Amino acid sequence: MTPDDPGHLLTVPITSAQDVFSLRRSGQEAAELLRMERRDQVRLATALSELGRDRLGAAGLTATFELHEEGEPALAVTFRWDAGTEPAPEALELATRLVHRVRHTAAASRNRLVLEQPVPAGSVSAVRRRSLREALRRTAPATMAEDLRAQTRDLIATLEETRAQSEELRRLNEELEETNRGVMALYTELSQELETTNSGVVALHTELEDKSRRLREASAAKTRFWTHVSHELRTPVNSVVGLSRLVLEPGPNRLDEEQHRQLSMIAASGQTLLSLVNDLLDVAKAESGQLEVRPEAVDLHALIGELGGVLAGTPRASGVVLSMPDLHGFPPVVTDEVLLARILRNLLSNSLKFTERGEVVLAVGEVGEPHGSWLAFTVTDSGIGIPEAEQQRVFEEFYQVPGRHQRGRPGTGLGLPYARTLAELLGGSLVLTSVEGQGTRVELRLPYTAAGPEPRPAPHFAAVRPPPGAPGAHPSDDGRENSS
Ligand code: ATP
Ligand code: MG
Repeated sequence: MTPDDPGHLLTVPITSAQDVFSLRRSGQEAAELLRMERRDQVRLATALSELGRDRLGAAGLTATFELHEEGEPALAVTFRWDAGTEPAPEALELATRLVHRVRHTAAASRNRLVLEQPVPAGSVSAVRRRSLREALRRTAPATMAEDLRAQTRDLIATLEETRAQSEELRRLNEELEETNRGVMALYTELSQELETTNSGVVALHTELEDKSRRLREASAAKTRFWTHVSHELRTPVNSVVGLSRLVLEPGPNRLDEEQHRQLSMIAASGQTLLSLVNDLLDVAKAESGQLEVRPEAVDLHALIGELGGVLAGTPRASGVVLSMPDLHGFPPVVTDEVLLARILRNLLSNSLKFTERGEVVLAVGEVGEPHGSWLAFTVTDSGIGIPEAEQQRVFEEFYQVPGRHQRGRPGTGLGLPYARTLAELLGGSLVLTSVEGQGTRVELRLPYTAAGPEPRPAPHFAAVRPPPGAPGAHPSDDGRENSS
């Protein structure tokens, strides 16, 4: 760069200590005019003073102030001297620590040492450059005493800045400590809350466990009570039924008409009582897990045939048709035949009991994917139906839909809960859907395990009409012994 370049500010020869003092002053002034921070002004002035002192005596020594404007704007001061001596490493190192960049190039004829300090963006303009140049030219030469004074001023300024920084640091530290204390307090509070919640959860868990144990015990006690009472009742009721039938049989001790009527009533009531006791015993056994499931190959065709026979005798509204599937050729199915028959009998007898016109249909078919892993038995009727609000409750023991619904239809409210318990014992499920006034559909699903390799034909249906005036049959009267 020559004195004609727009970035050139000033070139001064350095031949005496006084020149070095002036160099320091010019550096400080240029930095100030370019709005560098006070700290950076002092740094640049100190680096110039140090290197000027180090280079003093080198032949042809000059210092040039320039403004670099490409890229990041910077104030550059270049020392030039004739080849011969090298700058002392300590002076170079000090300068490197004080200013942004120090570049030293040794050449055969002329040596160059450039110091660069960035200037704040926007502080360089043509006007400022001109006034800077003039200001630097006008800078009065400084004496040693002035230089010393300037250094002392800088030192004091630096000390003050350091003190302000320490004060700021102390304040920040205090703030940090305060925050830390807050965080610790919050942490302790949260830990305590968590501990309290935890112990609450543990207490609740214990209480729940205790309650469920007491519930289990109460349920077991209820089942034991049922089992005992029904078992104790069975023997005397059996005697009443048996003996009254015996007396009713035609024989030498002929009864008059009134005696016959009264004894028939005793026999019928005894039979009802026996059915109830048997039902109770069945449910109690199923609930206590005393009912043993005995899986075997079941011929569904035969089972449905027998069921049809028994139900043909169930009292029902005239004209109600019972439609049973023809399962001729259906491969044997592995399940407990007695329990399956009990479930179906309960469902079918309910449908017959609560249907006044239309039909009751039993359908059997495979369901589930991909190869029909479930067997569904569906009982559908066109009866009075069950209000939606009652459809869950009918599975509670002794629950019967209240009101007009039940009138004239005998029962204890044990059939459905019993059927569901048995379905679950067999590994299946029982689902009821109903529309009041239109009818009810109950689906029993059992795991489908065919016993033989024969192909399964699609089932079709055959209608079984009740013979007029057939005697009644209770759902519990089946082949399996009830006594425990
Ligand atoms: P039990 O079966 O012990 O002789 P029950 O038939 O009254 O007596 P559940 O079989 O448990 O008892 O049925 C409970 C109640 O559900 C019945 O009393 C009846 O109110 C209602 N219900 C059951 N099946 C039907 C149905 N198919 N149509 C209409 N209501 C039904
Ligand atoms: Mg019933």
